[in-house]
Amino acid sequence: MDICNKEKADIVIIGAGIIGLSIAYHILRVDPKRSITVLEKDKILGMGSTGKCTGGIRYQFSSPLLRRLSLLSRDFFLKFESTFDTPIWYSEKGNLMLAANEVLWNQLQITSSQAKVDGIPMKLLNQEELLNYYPYLHKDNFLGGTVCPWDAYADPYAVLAGLYASIRRHKVDVLLGWEATKIIIEEDKVKGVETPQGTIWSPIIVNAAGPHAAQLAAMADIILPVQPFRRQIYVCSNPKDLQKNAPTIIDLASGFYLHQEASGKTVLLGGTDQDTWPGFEEVVDKSVVEEFFLAAMEIIPSAMDIKWLRTYTGICEQTPDFHPVMGEAPGLKGLFLANGFSGNGFMHAPAVGRILSDLILKGGTKLIDVSLLTPDRFAKGTH
Ligand SMILES: Cc1cc2nc3c(=O)[nH]c(=O)nc-3n(C[C@H](O)[C@H](O)[C@H](O)COP(=O)(O)OP(=O)(O)OC[C@H]3O[C@@H](n4cnc5c(N)ncnc54)[C@H](O)[C@@H]3O)c2cc1C
Repeated sequence: MDICNKEKADIVIIGAGIIGLSIAYHILRVDPKRSITVLEKDKILGMGSTGKCTGGIRYQFSSPLLRRLSLLSRDFFLKFESTFDTPIWYSEKGNLMLAANEVLWNQLQITSSQAKVDGIPMKLLNQEELLNYYPYLHKDNFLGGTVCPWDAYADPYAVLAGLYASIRRHKVDVLLGWEATKIIIEEDKVKGVETPQGTIWSPIIVNAAGPHAAQLAAMADIILPVQPFRRQIYVCSNPKDLQKNAPTIIDLASGFYLHQEASGKTVLLGGTDQDTWPGFEEVVDKSVVEEFFLAAMEIIPSAMDIKWLRTYTGICEQTPDFHPVMGEAPGLKGLFLANGFSGNGFMHAPAVGRILSDLILKGGTKLIDVSLLTPDRFAKGTH
């Protein structure tokens, strides 16, 4: 068990996933003297959502805010290996977004013109171009698509480990096996966190608890509409005509994606289990396996011959509008929220770290308009 050096810290971050560690790292970049304690309930790093993450980095979003978070994160990933001296297998192999109907095709056209204004090199491909560039696609199923050469992959665990090593060098206590069980509040301010191993007093507490964010917020009587949803991933052999370094393919109509792993020998099928109920159960549901394989064949007919090698599940933290919650909790000074990344928390973690660092150290940020991301937007109906 880790030994805690202090009973006090300037800042306590709850959750040592990619979000919690990115926030710690970015705070220290601005103020290396801040004392930070990170509490992690698991005894091993990366057992939460981050350890199950596919590692996709994407700029192609219809939401300007999500595009902005990707842009704010770009430099961090590009410079990671030289900054941290750690390999993360970063590779810009692009994402191919496919439109199976007129509505989605129109949406892609709008998104690509907006993305260009933001400086994102998103390219529109009509049906003929699509089949020319990607002859393995089903020839009848898509009206068009888009690619973005900046869309990338990086190894989530390697990024997490690089951040961990860096903040540990700055003397941050990362207490593994320490669960926050109570948030201590006096009047309208947070004062500290209770754990079974003892209390840590701090005027600033950050909720970076991933899929457990709502339970943690409830300890401070904050209603946070972040729900855990199970996601299943099928690891399969590569379809025979899918070349090495193929882009990650996303069918916008079904939400299904096919991601080729770095070896070029295996692919991950994911994303079609949209209708699961909220919950933390990570069991594999074999009753939906057919859906995944049918979805794969609708995109790449040669997927008919792929071999199913194994399946795993992970939990995603989701908000009703698929946008995160960021900022100080309404009515409670010192509790900061960084939650609900709705399937994009890995790629947006660098931006989140920068934004939370601004909010905590400077009391505001010019990076994005955080007023759009408050947790009470759902109650107010502004989402
Ligand atoms: C199958 C799958 C594929 C995904 N693919 C992508 C992708 O391609 N690209 C992308 O950007 N995102 C992807 N995501 C989403 C991404 O993984 C998450 O958004 C991101 O990892 C969230 O990071 P986090 O640090 O908030 O959560 P986590 O990594 O879950 O970390 C939160 C930590 O808080 C700890 N904790 C919780 N409660 C307490 C407590 N009371 N006390 C102490 N510790 C506590 C947990 O143990 C956990 O370690 C995927 C997710 C899944 C499940």
